[in-house]
Amino acid sequence: MDKNFQEEPFTRTIKFTPPLYKQRYQFIKDLVGKYKPKKVADLGCADCTLLWMLKFCSCIEVLAGLDICASVMKEKMHRLSPLPGDYLQPSERSLTVTLHHGSVAHKDPCMLGFDLVTCIELIEHLEQSELKKFPEVVFGFMAPSMVVISTPNSEFNPLLPGVTCRHPDHKFEWNRAQFQSWALETARRYDYSVEFTGVGHPPTGMENVGFCTQIGVFVRKYPQTSESAQSEKPTETVYKTVFKAVYPSLKNEKYLQNAVVSEVILTAQIIKRSLSDHLMSEHEDYNDTTERKSKFQPSMNCFSEDLGKLVVEKSMEPFVNGNVVYIPLKTIFSFPKVNRLCGTFEKLCKFIAGKVTLSSDRSAVVLNTEHENGEN
Ligand code: SAM
Repeated sequence: MDKNFQEEPFTRTIKFTPPLYKQRYQFIKDLVGKYKPKKVADLGCADCTLLWMLKFCSCIEVLAGLDICASVMKEKMHRLSPLPGDYLQPSERSLTVTLHHGSVAHKDPCMLGFDLVTCIELIEHLEQSELKKFPEVVFGFMAPSMVVISTPNSEFNPLLPGVTCRHPDHKFEWNRAQFQSWALETARRYDYSVEFTGVGHPPTGMENVGFCTQIGVFVRKYPQTSESAQSEKPTETVYKTVFKAVYPSLKNEKYLQNAVVSEVILTAQIIKRSLSDHLMSEHEDYNDTTERKSKFQPSMNCFSEDLGKLVVEKSMEPFVNGNVVYIPLKTIFSFPKVNRLCGTFEKLCKFIAGKVTLSSDRSAVVLNTEHENGEN
């Protein structure tokens, strides 16, 4: 068993390392890493720290937070916005993050269709009337594949000096038997299975008190089709959306086109540079030759080894004519990144039309060598 706390000898306080809240978030991150849910909702998300951590999980495409307190959500919600780097290099995955202001005691259609719903240290903050409605909202209405509920284990409290209740806003703190009986009855009623675990190990010799934070992991037993998930569910919106961020993604045509155009220009510049380096060295070896061809067809050995391997057909060879370098689109398409981004040669042509200068027959990217000379 990992010793994830330190006992401070004089005060006899228990200090968890990492802090308990981080252990709870890590528990969720590990679960996400294992089950790879695409759509995750965090109920009682407070300052959105868990959501912020989850936005880095590449499997997640939809993240939603809900809290009854709008001001706490707004405090740090800017962390959920895309960063400049997200625009410079859009991700392959799509990601939408939304925050809603509302109560877990109310149903709202924006909470349908989630794979994982997390309720970390939430239920002990609910009034009796809210706690009564909570299972029907989460397990009956939202009905995700998986629900994780964490709550303090009151049996651990005697090990926390001076603590009878961990927070003034807690409406109750359950021991393991109380939590497990509520969870088992909820799971039975809504056709879920539930397993119990926790974070925050007790000190050696005190294992009988259980984890400091108790956790129930609920898994829906029945399969759900998208039709049955949406059918006969009320469509009335009761939550207020306070934040929405749609991350730039290559799944969006606009960002994909930008990425293709940048990659085509970069690839063409690399090829041009390779060609011009070759021409320079040819020129140096050429001093005693009197005749020089105006049109130069470079052989493949003018490219770096990797580049040479890609340019396999004669028709794909780039060439220089006067001040102009012609780089066949077929050559550019053979580069792995361009190929992966576009998928087909037709799409490459479509994406770059009007964005990149092409030869009159549109078969090659055209670059001028003049700037190159000016640099030297
Ligand atoms: N889940 C967060 C975490 O682990 O760091 C925050 C937990 S905080 C102790 C409990 C949160 O639940 C508070 O932000 C509170 O506003 C929210 N909350 C309380 N009652 C709620 C309700 N009926 N519906 C939604 N959120 C509620």
